[in-house]
Amino acid sequence: GAGGDSPMGRQKAIPGIKTIIAVASGKGGVGKSTTALNLALGLRDLGLKTGLLDADIYGPSVPRLTGLKEMPKLTDDKKMIPLQRFGLTLMSIGFLVAEETAMIWRGPMIQSAVKQMLQDVAWGELDVLVVDMPPGTGDVQLSLAQHVPLAGAVIVSTPQDLALIDARRGITMFKKVDVPTLGIIENMSYFLCPHCNTRSDIFGHGGARHEAERLGVPFLGEIPLDIAIREGSDEGRPVLESDPSGKYAEIYRAIAEKI
Ligand code: ADP
Repeated sequence: GAGGDSPMGRQKAIPGIKTIIAVASGKGGVGKSTTALNLALGLRDLGLKTGLLDADIYGPSVPRLTGLKEMPKLTDDKKMIPLQRFGLTLMSIGFLVAEETAMIWRGPMIQSAVKQMLQDVAWGELDVLVVDMPPGTGDVQLSLAQHVPLAGAVIVSTPQDLALIDARRGITMFKKVDVPTLGIIENMSYFLCPHCNTRSDIFGHGGARHEAERLGVPFLGEIPLDIAIREGSDEGRPVLESDPSGKYAEIYRAIAEKI
């Protein structure tokens, strides 16, 4: 259509949303969704009106991470009204269908579902929308990266070699569709013992920083492997909200400032 398309002619801007950022990972289980939510909260703490779109169709985690399960209501013109929690505007395929249903969807269905969640949702005015992408770098991810008007992508990796190789694939994928990589976050960077507060580099801490330097993309920060992060996300209370020390608020705000 006129006006909203990017120069490439395929990406429609979403009215009211200033910037869309993807959070991606080369593979599952590295803490992408947890990081996407906490990063969104970090952006909120910078005073930005922030939304989170859970496009991780294979395993939508926003319902679990936020404790929200309600079905979104519709506006008069049949747009879905996103849910609100922790000052964030939230939409997830998990609000609409059972997890098992979404898991068996195929590429084109995933794309049209994500497209609907972008275009048929009354997002309101947002400074930034964080999109939690499905893990991996296959066709579905590539085509999503192509169809969502992304300003940039943040890659989440653990310090392990394999995860880093996958992270590299992610950066290559975004490059292919002209989406700049805003940087790499190292999650599960080191282990923080809840009893003695000693730090151990279980997966060989620092791998992502080296990889980022090698690839010439920014290194955004490291997040420890901490039981408080796991417990918080399973209870629907992100660590940023539940940690009394404010340590995590600082860590994620620092990352948010860099992107
Ligand atoms: P992904 O989206 O990459 O599949 P998730 O965000 O769902 O990963 O995280 C996978 C599991 O690891 C979840 O149980 C989550 O609570 C846990 N987790 C993620 N990051 C951390 C961390 N830094 N410390 C402890 N547990 C974590």
